[in-house]
Amino acid sequence: MIYWDYAAAAPPYEEVVRTVEQLMQLHYANPSSLHRAGADAAALIRRAREVCASALGVRTEEITFTSGATESNNLAIKGAALQYSGRGRHIVTTELEHPSVYESCLQLREMGWEVDFVKPKPDGGIDPWDIAAAVRKDTVLVSVMHVNNETGSVQPQRDIARAVKEANPRTLFHVDGVQGFGKLPGGPRDFGADLYSLSPHKIRGPRGVGLLYVREGVRLFPLISGGSHENGMRAGTENLPAIVAGAKAVRLASERQRELAGRLLPLRDRLLSFLRGIPELVVNSTEAGAPHIVHFSYPGMKGEVLARQLEQLGMLVSTRSACSSRTAEPSRVLLAMGRDEAAALGGIRISLGDGHTESDVAALETAIVKAVLALKIAEGGMR
Ligand code: PMP
Repeated sequence: MIYWDYAAAAPPYEEVVRTVEQLMQLHYANPSSLHRAGADAAALIRRAREVCASALGVRTEEITFTSGATESNNLAIKGAALQYSGRGRHIVTTELEHPSVYESCLQLREMGWEVDFVKPKPDGGIDPWDIAAAVRKDTVLVSVMHVNNETGSVQPQRDIARAVKEANPRTLFHVDGVQGFGKLPGGPRDFGADLYSLSPHKIRGPRGVGLLYVREGVRLFPLISGGSHENGMRAGTENLPAIVAGAKAVRLASERQRELAGRLLPLRDRLLSFLRGIPELVVNSTEAGAPHIVHFSYPGMKGEVLARQLEQLGMLVSTRSACSSRTAEPSRVLLAMGRDEAAALGGIRISLGDGHTESDVAALETAIVKAVLALKIAEGGMR
């Protein structure tokens, strides 16, 4: 079996697994406890925060630990909306966003906020002018992801940030950085983001921890009330093993970004040109996208059917993003990019990681040819 689903979950580094195990055994004390064991645990969290801040090029106090990027995105959006409702009740986001952003915005809409969803171009890119045109005097927040989790399309974050701030300097800019970090250069400061979400388990770290960069001076209404953890923005006893191991993964991802992208790009480009040569398929990713995501559709064929066929041939792929793969609906992202319903139902996402080689890609190509052929024959037989 070859695993092609790094964008859903990347296999953790051995070092990460060892760190989690050791910390669970040795540092079980509550970091809020005043005794020595508690102080040691608190020091480990402080150090992890410093490591993350240095990898992102931000101040230590600007890092908030959460339970995952789903929570980071919820906190960024609903926390900002609730905290700054005095400035207005309008939010701008895009049709491309991950469900943790999209659904948070829909929830706010149900609660009386106005939300504008900007549409992408057919290549999946968001035009900064469209964002600027949507921002108003009462816009509290704009949220635009760096890299789309289905197609890998990359947004011009700096231009979007400039457009937002020119339209309204008080509007906060949130970037969901989950699929971009470690694959492409740039962090919250480069992007001009006020808020920036990250997920260690996408970069070979552990599950159960997320990061949210909150620019100094920005406050978020806490969604989880309780103690004064995480600068009063996120209550709950810290998940120390995941935080410390997650910080390791964040450091490694930033140190290895260039090398990883250099290794993945030729594999991705090879796959893209191979897929374009198969007349039955529509390729939804481009060379301008992230180095680790290749998305294609077999219009008229459900993505799950093709994915199952590929699994029988030893290839584990995704139908879209893991968070929406259990719905039978066509992909909202592909529909927004102008694909028809048949293509939006028949999507396959291949996501690459540091374990992959040229020969893995060759094996995947053979499997795709065989799977498409088998499905075509089966289709013909049914007519
Ligand atoms: N944003 C994007 C772009 C993602 O791909 C994901 C993971 N599917 C998330 C947010 C949510 O991250 P997590 O799994 O840490 O909740």
